Amino acid sequence: MKFDVLTLFPAMLEAVLGDSIIGRARENGIIELNFTDIRDYTKNKHRKVDDYPYSGGGGMLMSPQPVYDAYKAVTEGLDYKPRTIYMSPQGRVFNQSVAKELAREEHIVLLCGHYEGVDRRVIDEIVDEEISIGDFVLTGGEIPAMAVIDAVSRLIPGVLAAAGSYENESHYSGLLEYPQYTRPQEWHGVEIPEVLISGHHANIEKWKREQSLIETLKKRPDMLENAELTDDDRAFLEHYKNERT
Ligand code: SAM
Repeated sequence: MKFDVLTLFPAMLEAVLGDSIIGRARENGIIELNFTDIRDYTKNKHRKVDDYPYSGGGGMLMSPQPVYDAYKAVTEGLDYKPRTIYMSPQGRVFNQSVAKELAREEHIVLLCGHYEGVDRRVIDEIVDEEISIGDFVLTGGEIPAMAVIDAVSRLIPGVLAAAGSYENESHYSGLLEYPQYTRPQEWHGVEIPEVLISGHHANIEKWKREQSLIETLKKRPDMLENAELTDDDRAFLEHYKNERT
């Protein structure tokens, strides 16, 4: 899978996405990330990439020409249009199901705005959709783009060391993950749950499912409305709630 990021600050992305699990996946050729500096494409003799908004108010707006030319450079010679996403606080709010959807794409272009954002005309011409990472406003689209790349990339086979290790994680199946423990078996006087050292696979799986249901009930009860629950899950939750009242 390939991401092209159009940005005024490529070093920000390289600093974060050159390291750790994503950095290794790039070295191993599982994902390809290219960070294109929009400033390299400006035709302004002072290398300016922004200008005052016609509507007034404070701040500067990114000019359409350098953004468009950077986009043309990364898509030149392709016989398809890569899905092109503008990172924007006005977009569809990103979550795990959007990450799963994007992980099915071969090639994604992410446009990062800065300052007051980007001239609307170039957004209308090149962008397929806007994606937000939440209802708050950041100074630029680079942190949102990194969040999207990280969340999507770890769903690509081979990026995580253990195949399918994301499937039990929070949000993947509509529930939060069960609590996890590592060695030592006892720490600060607290033992790990006995079932985990029982060697009884079916009981361990049952415990994991029940703990996921409890975590979700306690921390994000709203998620239970849309989660795929079995009759056993529902019966367990009823029993758990009754016991606590
Ligand atoms: N004037 C814009 C508005 O009110 O909608 C906000 C511009 S913001 C200061 C600058 C850039 O940061 C945006 O162009 C966008 O790329 C990025 N950005 C800010 N908040 C974001 C969010 N929640 N999700 C995704 N991108 C965001």
